[in-house]
Order: sequence, then C-alpha cells, then structure tokens
Amino acid sequence: MEAEISAYQEANRTGFLTRLDVGPQAFITSSRARANNQADWPDYQIVFAQHGLIHDGTTRVPLALQIILNRAESVGEIGFNSTNYANGERSDVNLALIDFKLFTVLSDMEVMIEGIKLGLQVMENTTSFQAMDVAYTESIPEACRLVPYRSNQYWMCYVHQRGYSWLHIVGTCAMGLPGNPMTVVDYQYKVLGIAGLRAIDGSVMPRTTNANLNGGVILTAEKGAQAILAEYSDT
Ligand SMILES: Cc1cc2nc3c(=O)[nH]c(=O)nc-3n(C[C@H](O)[C@H](O)[C@H](O)COP(=O)(O)OP(=O)(O)OC[C@H]3O[C@@H](n4cnc5c(N)ncnc54)[C@H](O)[C@@H]3O)c2cc1C
Repeated sequence: MEAEISAYQEANRTGFLTRLDVGPQAFITSSRARANNQADWPDYQIVFAQHGLIHDGTTRVPLALQIILNRAESVGEIGFNSTNYANGERSDVNLALIDFKLFTVLSDMEVMIEGIKLGLQVMENTTSFQAMDVAYTESIPEACRLVPYRSNQYWMCYVHQRGYSWLHIVGTCAMGLPGNPMTVVDYQYKVLGIAGLRAIDGSVMPRTTNANLNGGVILTAEKGAQAILAEYSDT
C-alpha cells in the first residue's frame, strides 16, 4: 500500500489509487431548463467512467462518457398482460408490460444532444483531457452510417441505437393526493383501496430524482418504517 501511495504522490501519478471508476461528474442545467425558469436546477448529468488504470504510462484505457437525462419529460407506462394471466402465466416477467416511451417528448432528445456535445467538448478541448491524450473513438452504429457524422441527426440516430434507460426507475406506485388518478399510495405509503398493504421503495417517488436514486430510497424506507412503528406502537 505504501508503494501505491508513493506512486500516487509522484508527479505523474501512477498506480491503482489513480483509478476513478465512475469518476468525475457534473450536474448541468440545460437550455430547456433555463428557458423554463429553472436556471438554478440542473437537469442532466455528465459522468466520466473509467475502465482500468489511467496514466499507467503504457496502456490506453477505455473511458466512457455518459449523459444522464435526470428530469426527462417522457413518461413510460406499465401494464398487466391479462391474456397471459388468463392462460395461466404467473411469472411477473411475462405479466408486466413495460414501455419506457423514451424520447417521446422531443425536447428530451434536444437536451441529450446538448449534453453529448458538452461532454465531447470537455473530452476533446480541455487541457486536462488533452494531457491524457484522450480521443473519442467509438464505432458508428450501423443504422447511422448514412447520416453526417456528429450532426444533430447523427446524435439522434446514435441515441436511438445506443441509448438506454438509466437505473433510476420510479413512479409505478406514486405517492400523492387521493383525488389524483396517478396516486397509488398515500403519505403513509398505504396503497389506496387495499387494506393492510404498503409499498415502500423507489416506486413511490412520482418523478425520478435529480441524481442517483439510492439515498432517496433509503430515506423513503426510513420514513416508511417510522409510519409502521407509529401505527403499531400502541398495540
Ligand atoms: C446496476 C445498478 C447500479 C446502481 N448504482 C447506483 C448508484 O451508484 N447510486 C445510486 O444512488 N443508485 C444506484 N442505483 C439505483 C438504486 O440502487 C436503486 O434505484 C435502488 O436500489 C432501488 O431500491 P428499491 O428498494 O426501490 O428497489 P430494489 O432495490 O430493486 O428492491 C426491490 C426488491 O423487491 C424484490 N421483489 C421484486 N419482486 C418481488 C415480488 N414479487 N415479491 C417479493 N419481492 C420482490 C426484489 O428482489 C428486491 O429485493 C443502481 C441501480 C442498479 C440496478
């Protein structure tokens, strides 16, 4: 370990302590958010995720640029396959009908493209990245070969080919007021209309959080536990 610390402290910083994994991140306010009077509320995230040691002086390592649309306006749908159920299917994988409806709101794509361009700008035009000799070398998706490279149309095609939902899926049991048709649980996490059932997890968040979800899920769980304890503390 001492050797690794020494290597890290050297001027050219080598060794596994230089490893960042899902490393530097930035929360950015898009022009859409600014136009919506949300200039102080970032709505997308840029992440540089490194796979392997950087600056070991011998090998080039992959560096992933991830653009995460945190406040997407496109909203997905989840349904129940009653035909499968009637035919005896009981596996939730085959009963849930999930449509993420990604980029059904066009301005989500515009924000994404803005993020890609900013991320590439950082990778290609900053002295820090240039010092590491970073280059964008990703292959062109087959379906995008005929589109002018790195045009808006190209990035749109690229996102459709290589984009995916991130890991912060929420909202299927949204907490809300009783009159709202989207409400599934009340403020005590009780499922409306079904006695004795609570949902206490990320699904109760009506919209996704503005960053990674896990901290909010833990707080949700703590509040849910408090609600249960409060209800049964006298019994
Ligand atoms: C690969 C990955 C990486 C992530 N990295 C981060 C990160 O770095 N930072 C961050 O903040 N967030 C991260 N997240 C997001 C975060 O971990 C999740 O959003 C969070 O754990 C969700 O918690 P949850 O309790 O809502 O659901 P889950 O953790 O999915 O828990 C649901 C539980 O319900 C159980 N279950 C499902 N169906 C049934 C059933 N029919 N009966 C009984 N039990 C059932 C499952 O087995 C599971 O234990 C990541 C997510 C993934 C998938």
